[in-house]
Amino acid sequence: MIRSESMSEGAFLRCIRPACLHTYGVEEARYDCAACGSLLDVVYDWERTPAPGRLSFFAERWGTRHEPLDFSGVWRFRELLPFAPPDKLVTIGEGQTLLQNVDPRRVDLPLAAGNLHFQYEGMNPSGSFKDNGMTAAFTMARVLGRHRVGCASTGNTSASLALYASLAQTQSGRAMQAIVFVGAGKIAYGKLSQALDYGALTLQIDGDFDACLTRIREASDRLDLYLMNSVNPFRLEGQKTIMYRVLEGLGWEPPDWIICPGGNLGNSSAFGKAFAELKELGLIPRMPRLAIVNAAGANTLCDLVSRKGLTWNGGEWDQSIVDAYYDAMTREDRKAKTIASAIEINRPVNLPKALRALHAMNGVVRDVTDDEILDEKARIGRNGYGCEPASAASLAGLRKLVAEGVVSASDRVVCVLTGHQLKDADVTVGYHTDRYPGEARTCASQPPRPFANRPVQVADDLDAICAAIENADA
Ligand SMILES: *Cc1c(COP(=O)(O)O)cnc(C)c1O
Ligand SMILES: [Zn+2]
Repeated sequence: MIRSESMSEGAFLRCIRPACLHTYGVEEARYDCAACGSLLDVVYDWERTPAPGRLSFFAERWGTRHEPLDFSGVWRFRELLPFAPPDKLVTIGEGQTLLQNVDPRRVDLPLAAGNLHFQYEGMNPSGSFKDNGMTAAFTMARVLGRHRVGCASTGNTSASLALYASLAQTQSGRAMQAIVFVGAGKIAYGKLSQALDYGALTLQIDGDFDACLTRIREASDRLDLYLMNSVNPFRLEGQKTIMYRVLEGLGWEPPDWIICPGGNLGNSSAFGKAFAELKELGLIPRMPRLAIVNAAGANTLCDLVSRKGLTWNGGEWDQSIVDAYYDAMTREDRKAKTIASAIEINRPVNLPKALRALHAMNGVVRDVTDDEILDEKARIGRNGYGCEPASAASLAGLRKLVAEGVVSASDRVVCVLTGHQLKDADVTVGYHTDRYPGEARTCASQPPRPFANRPVQVADDLDAICAAIENADA
């Protein structure tokens, strides 16, 4: 294969298995290792593309943020993901997210004041953290000259891909075809509306997310379609920057805990890679611990790690445990089911990378029920942040870890809020009106929702209206 002149010479793709470590040029656009079938990492020759000697270097770019690359919360850190030349970077100012300090008492947690933070990724252009990865994947599509891009999605990946595709077309004047595969009936309306509005070809497949991902991988081979799911290792390079911004918010001091929801495990994998590289480069003194939180109805990782003892094991994880688990899933026709649709996934594609992240960050995995997720989402909303259901799994997981004594009051904790509150309004309104979200049925069998803020029916009559207001105040 001929290397294009503009390609960064210091970046390549490498199999994640230490026993294989087969390498490929970044221009090969591979998603797995030809030799052993494992996932691939983007790796760098730091001698050829040296990283800055101190992280505070990146804060200086706030002073030059009229430059688009310095304005982007992803490309501000470009020396830590140097896989493409700066003139090829695709950006729309993603990653303008800042670490928020939250009073732990406001969410009924016994942490010390100043120790709880939300990394609020809902503030991205398409309303989820996915934009951090999509800007990197579109950069790679541009480097490779690919104009047909696609993904399978539970919603936010498609919204993000559709947004970047329409902008790339506007900016370059070259047609870009965006194709998204969504499971029929499996997508929150806020997210579907984005894919449609931005103009992506939207295929509603009669199947779940896992089926969509299998199909699009097959289609990508046949149709020269550039795949932008998180099996695309460049996505994860962009998502590393979420952790750089967390560090920036803490004056470049690593916190004790990073807590995030786990779906396809791209984010947790990216976070592990980010910290491992910073440690290797001598830019941080120690690693935070990682907690990945599944929904109880979609808890493959939690089952495998916390109950079946699956570990990274130096890169020789026991695939037979995974295969047996997936076989049983198929045999028993067990399907992921959770109100948190963004993490409703049976077979997480980045599983081995997440095992590696858990190993590197001394991590833990927990699962939380839909009721816990919904209550924490309402708590987050009451504190002026707001997020979609999947995001609230992080706070629900934290509560569990505090109760177990795994997280202590003196620990500094960062919960990643992955998606915006308005993504899934059906769930929110359902919660506050005592319905099973998304369904018209009243949830008679459910306990009353502790944080429900029920709308009050009132006649079109001033006395009745004033009485309703004064009663509510009492
Ligand atoms: C995609 C997504 C997740 C899951 O992230 P993974 O990287 O797939 O584990 C969680 N929350 C939201 C809002 C998402 O869009
Ligand atoms: Zn390999």
